[in-house]
Formats: sequence, C-alpha cells, structure tokens
Amino acid sequence: MGLLAAETAGAARPVHLVLTRDRVRALKAGSPWLYADALRELPPARPGAMALVKTKDGEIVCKGLYDPGSAIAFRAVAVRERRLDDALLAARLERAVALRERLFEGADTDGYRLVNGEGDGLPGLVIDRYATSAVVKLDGAGPAGFYDAGGVAAAGEGSRGAVLWGAAPTAPVVFRENGIRFEADLVAGQKTAFFLDQRDNRQRAARFARGRRVLNLFSYTGGFSVAAGAAGAAHVTSVDIAAPAIASAGANWALNGLDPGAHAGVAADAFEFLEAAAAAKEAWDVVIVDPPSFAPNKQSVPKATASYERVFARAASVTAPGGILALSSCSSHIDSQLFEQARTRAHALLRLCPFPFGFGGGAGRGCRGGRGPRSRICSSALGRARRSASVLGAYGQPEDHPYPAACPELRYLKFTACALD
Ligand code: SAH
Repeated sequence: MGLLAAETAGAARPVHLVLTRDRVRALKAGSPWLYADALRELPPARPGAMALVKTKDGEIVCKGLYDPGSAIAFRAVAVRERRLDDALLAARLERAVALRERLFEGADTDGYRLVNGEGDGLPGLVIDRYATSAVVKLDGAGPAGFYDAGGVAAAGEGSRGAVLWGAAPTAPVVFRENGIRFEADLVAGQKTAFFLDQRDNRQRAARFARGRRVLNLFSYTGGFSVAAGAAGAAHVTSVDIAAPAIASAGANWALNGLDPGAHAGVAADAFEFLEAAAAAKEAWDVVIVDPPSFAPNKQSVPKATASYERVFARAASVTAPGGILALSSCSSHIDSQLFEQARTRAHALLRLCPFPFGFGGGAGRGCRGGRGPRSRICSSALGRARRSASVLGAYGQPEDHPYPAACPELRYLKFTACALD
C-alpha cells in the first residue's frame, strides 16, 4: 500500500498548470502554495490530482497536488526532485518521524505532532501521535484526494517501530506531556483532541506558578492549568465556554493526583468572566490568555485585532501588581509584528527594504502573510489597561510544528510572557 491515493498514482499523466506571473523564484525557494489567480486556467480534474506547474514558456517548475475547487489551487511537493511518487512521500514521512525521535528521545512526552503538513514537505497532511494512537488529518478535498490515508497509517506503523497506530479508540487516550498525564478524546474531541502546539509554552508559564494563584482563560481541557498545578500553584482557575472542556480539565487535574480543592473549573464566556472579576476587584498572580483564532481570514484582521486587545486589556486589569501575564494568538493572519512588537524606526526601514526570508515583508508572497505593524496588540492592550510591563519572552510553536522558511504565514502561534509592574 502506498502513500499516494490509487487514483493519483494511477493517472496516465499529470494535469498541466501554467503560471500567469513569475512565481518561479518563490516556488524554488520553498513557498508551497499557488492561489488560483496565479494560474492561467484551472483545468477540470478531481481534487488531489497530480499536477505539474510550468512557466508560460513551458519550463517545468515543480510537481504537486491540485485542487481546482480550493482557494489554494496547488500545493507543491516535488520542487528539486524529478519524481513525485510513493518513494518521495515515504522518504518525507521517514524524515519527519526521525526528527521527532531526536526531539523527544529521553523526554517524558508521548503526545506530539508527527507530521506537520507543509513544514515536513507533506502538504495538507497532519499526523498527531497520542501514546499508542495517532490521528491522521487531511486539510480539505485536495489532500484527501492526494494521499491514501490507509497507506499513511500503514507506513507509520512500519517506521522504526516508534509509532503505533491503534484502531479508533472508544475511550479517551491517556498520554504524557513533560511527565504530566492528559486524556485526549480522539473521536469526540473539539477539532483537535489536544493543543499540542502549546507544550513548551505551558512549561514556560508553569515556571511562574509555584505558590501562586493562576487564572487560565480559554483553558480548553486544562493544558496550562495542570502544568501550573504540577509546578506547585497554590490555586488554579480554568475558564472555558465549553462545559465538556471544563469537565475534562477537572479530570486531567485529578489524573495527576493534584488537590481537587486547588482547582476551580468555570464554564463561562471569558469576556463576561473578566468583567465580573474586575468589578469584584479580583486579581491573580499569573494570568494566561489563549483565545481561539479571532481572525479566520485576512478581512477579519481589524475586527480580530480589536477583540484580542479587548480581552488582553481586561486580563491585564485582573493581573495582580508584579504578576505575570501570558498572551497568545494562534491566528496565522495576525503576524508576530502585529501581535507583539512595538513599531520602531528600524521596522519602518525594514519594510522599505524587504529581506528575502521573513521580516514580514519579503518573500513568501504566495503565503499572503499579514504585513507589518499597524497597531501592536499586546502593547495596546497593556496601555488600555494602564499597566506597564516588561516582555520576558516572545515565543512561537515548538519544533514538532515546523514551517517552510519561505512561508512565514505558517508560523502561526505567538506567545508573549510579560511581567507587569
Ligand atoms: N489553552 C488551551 C487551548 C485553547 S483553544 C490549551 O492549552 O489546550 C480555545 C478555547 O477557547 C476553546 O476551548 C473554546 O471552547 C474556548 N472559547 C471560545 N470562545 C470562548 C469564550 N468566549 N469564552 C471562553 N472560552 C471560549
């Protein structure tokens, strides 16, 4: 069984796509996507069909997967390689697995992202491992038609014995993250069973928790809460609008033998909770704010910016004097400059002179990254709350969530830890 869907592998010839503009350098630099408007026409084909991209002079640039019905009409797979076949995909999978083996060797962690799509050269394919089970996710009709999900699972099983693929579990799976036990409902869980991408940031926040009162807003199943509890927090409050997530946060707390009296789970709207807490003059020593993505697309960025600022400002106002405030955003449309960096003359100059990799201005244009500082969400929120702060660190996603150097938009996670006056 191969990794390519039988229909893709068996097609007589790939679909030919012709560029309307010069995307050759970007593609060769590793920018993985072409939007429909970069192609002269969209020939009819099944989602996930193999395609090759040519310049208008007929030079072949790369091969990949095609989905005429999606905004991302083409995802590049083979750029420098001559062939796009099962062997190439198997080598990419093997490389992804080997990287995780190195990353987690000796670590008390068996829940992590084994394959992160474009970042591992397998566009649209995500595999999360939870102890002895793994979840395969295909990002839309194109990837679903391109890969053979069964083949992916079978290949994973054979890979150095590191990955075991269970049958669909009927009960939540228990896995470990830095020695902390969590349960994940792989079948009924919300979108993802667990937010594996905050692993390192949970440890960062937990370092400030010992003996302190912690507020975890948008807690989901209590990832940050249990990490804080295990690090010796005096008391943790978890707030999430989803009652099942709060129940699960309580279960995860208990699973680690923590004192049930030191955790309060609150199923509530975080905005309303904060308003009530501020009115009651409540305060916490450590406040963590990890909202869902408020910006599903580029058009929604201004509205999302306002929502982030509002909730962050309210969170700052319930952070005790001398407390720690950790602010996060998982929206790829809010780049790190907009999120955390103050505008300086240096930024303005950089924007006039874009660098080929990153700095929010240059290459990766195919990825439609958000552009440069307009306001700065974190500093505006602190200003609104009339609080001064020092940034202790600004972080992103962990190494098991890699992104292509040419596509900074896929660096979606921001996490800024501040010490408040
Ligand atoms: N910090 C979590 C992940 C948060 S995901 C972790 O480490 O696992 C975002 C969460 O926000 C989801 O659980 C969702 O239920 C919750 N949510 C969405 N809107 C909300 C609102 N208005 N108030 C409170 N929680 C909300």
